[in-house]
Amino acid sequence: MNTLTAADALVRRDLGHLWHPCTQMHDHETIPMVPIARGDGAWLVGVDGRRYLDGISSWWTNLFGHANPRLAASLAEQARTLEHVIFAGFTHEPAVALAEELVRVTPPGLDRVFYADNGSAAIEVALKMSFHYWLNQGHGEKTRFIALTGSYHGETLGALSVSDVALYRKTYAPLLLTPILAPSPDAYEAEPGESAPQVAQRRLGELRALLERHAHEVCAVIVEPLVQCAGGMRMYHPDYLAGLRRLCDEFQVHFIADEIAVGFGRTGTLFACEQAQVSPDFMCLSKGLTGGFLPLSAVLTNTAVYEAFYAEYSAGKAFLHSHSYTGNPLACRVALETLGIFRDEPVLARNRQLAEHLSRRLAPLRDHPHVADVRQTGMIAAVELVADKASRRPFPAADRRGLRVYLHGLRHGAVLRPLGDVIYFMPPYVVTPQDIDHLVDTAVSGIALAVSD
Ligand SMILES: *Cc1c(COP(=O)(O)O)cnc(C)c1O
Repeated sequence: MNTLTAADALVRRDLGHLWHPCTQMHDHETIPMVPIARGDGAWLVGVDGRRYLDGISSWWTNLFGHANPRLAASLAEQARTLEHVIFAGFTHEPAVALAEELVRVTPPGLDRVFYADNGSAAIEVALKMSFHYWLNQGHGEKTRFIALTGSYHGETLGALSVSDVALYRKTYAPLLLTPILAPSPDAYEAEPGESAPQVAQRRLGELRALLERHAHEVCAVIVEPLVQCAGGMRMYHPDYLAGLRRLCDEFQVHFIADEIAVGFGRTGTLFACEQAQVSPDFMCLSKGLTGGFLPLSAVLTNTAVYEAFYAEYSAGKAFLHSHSYTGNPLACRVALETLGIFRDEPVLARNRQLAEHLSRRLAPLRDHPHVADVRQTGMIAAVELVADKASRRPFPAADRRGLRVYLHGLRHGAVLRPLGDVIYFMPPYVVTPQDIDHLVDTAVSGIALAVSD
């Protein structure tokens, strides 16, 4: 007799009707779908009882563990009080308190908060607000954006327009805006003997040349501060952000900092921009904002931007962008509680120790014959697998070597979900040093398997 396990039954029902993100569904003829029953701190527990350490914070959202009791309690209480209310003409304590707290913890000058539902929506808001600011100032000729090569800002059409990851972009290119691409300050692309700050300076020179030609038609430069995450966890020196701030001022274009992935402590500071002591004109936040509990995003901007929209109704200058769930009380309440954890606990200091441990454990991989680079910024670390170490020639993409590491991880109780052949670590902040050992050990044995033959 052939009885289906509960796990198999759930997978069968899933495949009967669902269509998953970032997935060629045909892959599931061979790649297992993992049914999860519950979360337990940094771990996920399968329907079959198997446990998986969440080494990628469930797509970089989770900060303080799955089913975190403090966040869960705040959510339950809010759900019994006010679940949602239209946010045009109405307001509520969680939205107001969260805005006050975001203004307090973000770099100086970011005094205005506009809410949206997810990262891509925040990017849409920032792009539209920047364009509309210039329009309200009488500069309707500014219609373009400068983005970095290798950037990723989301997958709605506007956000995808300013993204440069071919895998996601090239199919839809006929539908998209055409950004001006500036070369990324990515330190992996250094010339022989060139340091990361030197790469930053060289790339700033190239950005200056682009601004000299295009500033008159450019609304903003948009970047992922310090780490280009989806583009392969490529990292760069904070000097680039400091130089970018100066160039944006000089050429009268906005600086949009997309901290959707790197915000809330991932890079070692609460926000990556702090490491260059800069305030962008727009800062986009999401992912960790609710500790990984609910979709919510925020765009912070300064008073000068706000005031360019503030006029008599008849002037037609208002920013009319809206989402049904703008300022959702449940999400705002959990976000506020997430910031409460940062206030009450020495999160960043604890992370420094965890990051040092991760760094020590990864260091030996530098000598691996198929590892071209081991890099780390705070709680984000990445290992670049290549076919040939000396020339840094990558493996053919069709080999899907990273996928072998993923499958190996699942067999050994770890969620490692490489970006191509870049194996990375972005764990929740509640991991223990032993958890980190488990992640690194699993990655090391997975890499051995992935590069053989
Ligand atoms: C994930 C991500 C986004 C998009 O956020 P979604 O919530 O997935 O739409 C935008 N920018 C960066 C840097 C991201 O990592």
